[in-house]
Amino acid sequence: MIEFENSFHKLNTDFYENVIPSKPPKPELISFNKSLSNLLGIRISWIESIEGLECFTGKQVIKNSNPLAMVYAGHQFGNWVPRLGDGRAILLGEILDQNNERWDIQLKGSGLTPFSRNGDGKAALGPVLREYLMSEAMHQLGIPTTLGLFIAKTGENVYREKVFPGAIITRVAKSHIRVGTFQYFASLGKYNLVKELMDYVIKRNFPEITTNQNKYLSFLKFVIDAQAKLISKWMSVGFIHGVMNTDNCSIVGDTIDYGPCAFMDKYNENTVFSSIDTFGRYSYKNQPLICQWNLAQLANCILPFLSDEKEKSIKIAQNEIDKYSEVYHNYFSKEIFKKLGFSCKIEDDNKLKDELFDIMKRDELDFTISFSNLYFELLDIDNDLSEFTSKSRDFTKWISKWKLRLKKEKKPVNQIAENLKQSNPIIIPRNHLVEEAINFALENDNFSKYFNLLKLVSDPFKYKEKYVNYYKPPDVLDENFKTFCGT
Ligand code: AMP
Ligand code: MG
Repeated sequence: MIEFENSFHKLNTDFYENVIPSKPPKPELISFNKSLSNLLGIRISWIESIEGLECFTGKQVIKNSNPLAMVYAGHQFGNWVPRLGDGRAILLGEILDQNNERWDIQLKGSGLTPFSRNGDGKAALGPVLREYLMSEAMHQLGIPTTLGLFIAKTGENVYREKVFPGAIITRVAKSHIRVGTFQYFASLGKYNLVKELMDYVIKRNFPEITTNQNKYLSFLKFVIDAQAKLISKWMSVGFIHGVMNTDNCSIVGDTIDYGPCAFMDKYNENTVFSSIDTFGRYSYKNQPLICQWNLAQLANCILPFLSDEKEKSIKIAQNEIDKYSEVYHNYFSKEIFKKLGFSCKIEDDNKLKDELFDIMKRDELDFTISFSNLYFELLDIDNDLSEFTSKSRDFTKWISKWKLRLKKEKKPVNQIAENLKQSNPIIIPRNHLVEEAINFALENDNFSKYFNLLKLVSDPFKYKEKYVNYYKPPDVLDENFKTFCGT
């Protein structure tokens, strides 16, 4: 049994609509996340029981749960949409984990809500499998993200470009509040609600600033910091979110909404995968700037709380938004230096880092392997992955310079090698692997390939020779690979 709490439900009723999930005809468990269940204190025997299945598919609303759909607005591809909201998601309630941390438990794909607009409120199996796998991979890479607790088939069909089995994912997050949630109330001039929302987030997620003199300015700084850190981590693994609309920008700095996201194989900073991102607004290289743009939208919503005078508030907000660039670049350099095995910064490190990215681009090197091969290069180990970088003469020259630089680390080589291993994933969920595993599951109703890939990406820093093919890009890279929003 779960003891749900409902702190969001106690807020002003303008924040949500009460909704009962629709009942799936024949729910069937696909998988659940054991370590997350343990963290949340949910008994495994319960989660495996009929009651667990019915709770996480919306068939039964258990005692203490007060299901609701949250309202929000957002800029989608830069265009203002005054009302979006949870169109296919329903918050069941919250759970306090063993460390007293509060987690939202949300169903995604559980039917119509007042915010469904033209949608059916449902989710197809493919996107559900994708979100569960990608969010777990991100988590294991050390990147803040919403998590997947439970995935199940509903036993009904959903209709997209084709007919697909319907499914539901139980999503767990420290918050489902987005920049777009603030935008919704600010756009209506309901600043009392903007304040209530901000106070809620501060109390729940940033308690250390509760007593700060200007806690609302601290709030802005915290969100900026969390987002800058998040994007720096995406950039350091070649992750492209694909739909960085303000409604997909989490207030606590988690990766949220795994619709069209993908990892790049060969490095090119202009890479875009999303089929609807025609102009490359959310390309790899644009992500840090788009994040700043999203943060400026948030700052705009909270201007009345930054000072008593409008002009002064604008200056304060602008100042924070301007500082974002530096905050981001510091985080990004830190991430990359860690990947290069540098524990302290020496004069030419930035140059060395930029040179590497230039070579990766010019010689079309694989993003992940360029970094994971550093470990093997340092220890002079030749293996099946060596050719992916040794084909580039410039890369080989760069390695010599890099090794000279490492001599200044004053650490035994084995220790540097160990750090390199811990900082550079050997496996990421490559597009061709994810597609293959999901298509196989859909076509054969057989999840063995999917579970195998899930297991491998759940341990992304561990090299196992027999899985070396999973570490490689496809033999022929599909230059036109596109992802689709997971509706
Ligand atoms: P997303 O692109 O996933 O961030 O979704 C954008 C908006 O569309 C959100 O308000 C979603 O709740 C809504 N939405 C997406 N898919 C569906 C669907 N199948 N039914 C209802 N609403 C949806
Ligand atoms: Mg969304």
